[in-house]
Amino acid sequence: MTNLNNALLAQQGLRTWYSDHARKLPWRLTPSLYGTWLSEILLQQTQVETGLPKWHLFLERFPTVGHLARASESEVLKAWEGLGYYRRATLLHKAARAIDAAGEFPMSYDAWLKLPGVGPYTAAAIASIGLGEAVAAVDGNVQRVVARWAGITDPVDGKTGAQAVQKVADAWLDHDAPGNHNQAVMELGALVCKPRNPACTLCPISSHCASANNQDMWGVLPAKKVKKKVQRWALTWHIARFENNIVATQRPESGVWAKMWAFPEMSPSAEFHPLGEVMKPVIHLLTHRRIEATFQGWKAPNKAAMEAYATEVGGVVMTWEELEKRAMPRLITKVFNDLRSE
Ligand code: SF4
Repeated sequence: MTNLNNALLAQQGLRTWYSDHARKLPWRLTPSLYGTWLSEILLQQTQVETGLPKWHLFLERFPTVGHLARASESEVLKAWEGLGYYRRATLLHKAARAIDAAGEFPMSYDAWLKLPGVGPYTAAAIASIGLGEAVAAVDGNVQRVVARWAGITDPVDGKTGAQAVQKVADAWLDHDAPGNHNQAVMELGALVCKPRNPACTLCPISSHCASANNQDMWGVLPAKKVKKKVQRWALTWHIARFENNIVATQRPESGVWAKMWAFPEMSPSAEFHPLGEVMKPVIHLLTHRRIEATFQGWKAPNKAAMEAYATEVGGVVMTWEELEKRAMPRLITKVFNDLRSE
């Protein structure tokens, strides 16, 4: 009974706090299922500051789900460029096509869950915010708030810990306003119960929190399973040039940077003149990977040699301007102008 009372008190505290402190994000100001869905996909593993301009850009380029469905995959990848985790973009595009083919948006949590790229958290967020369905959405912010509040010490990314978090999140859920409630918990995690130094004195649910003003608890909660070791990956890209042309290749359909455009990893034949390293190796960090990319320059004797090299590596001869229009890994876009000016 006490726990239920505490859950109800937390729910009330969250409701009042959210109405006073919610950030005025555009998808909240003029809500629509399309805008909410886009925001949820764009903001996965992405900060609001980075996701916000992309949300505007997507709505500008693809104003409706029909526009998104009819766009080519390369247009969607290009719009996504810079956000990383490119699989999200291809799944978003596939989902848009499924929605467009169905003629309407899914109208329940279960129906959203069937779409590509939509997991339990995203389905719960969209169904509660966009449709008013009473389902608790649990993302990283919610895991942190709940694990600290309830003192859950099992890893939240393991089965037992995840179930314990879900149980509390379900007990907290405000059935009269599930969308606002879910956003309130996420917002509290983003603004108050931050990973380091949570502002417990400003927290609306501190009175029954197991970790309030307790530095030792903040340091260990939410508990996570032991992380995988970071892999090192040394990569060499070959930039073969002839006048303003280069050879570019599209990466495989799966794996790192799936379907994005980059340079061949195989060096050209001896008739190409080596120009050495184009620039200092570039270090780039992805989840569980530390990539060190080296760019080797080559000058082709003529265009026919470029075509032959492109055929050999399954690539295409194109100008720098053409390449710039295609989606490329962030590792390349961040040094693109340096590569091109050599
Ligand atoms: S009291 Fe502190 S630790 Fe507890 S939920 Fe609030 S901010 Fe987080």
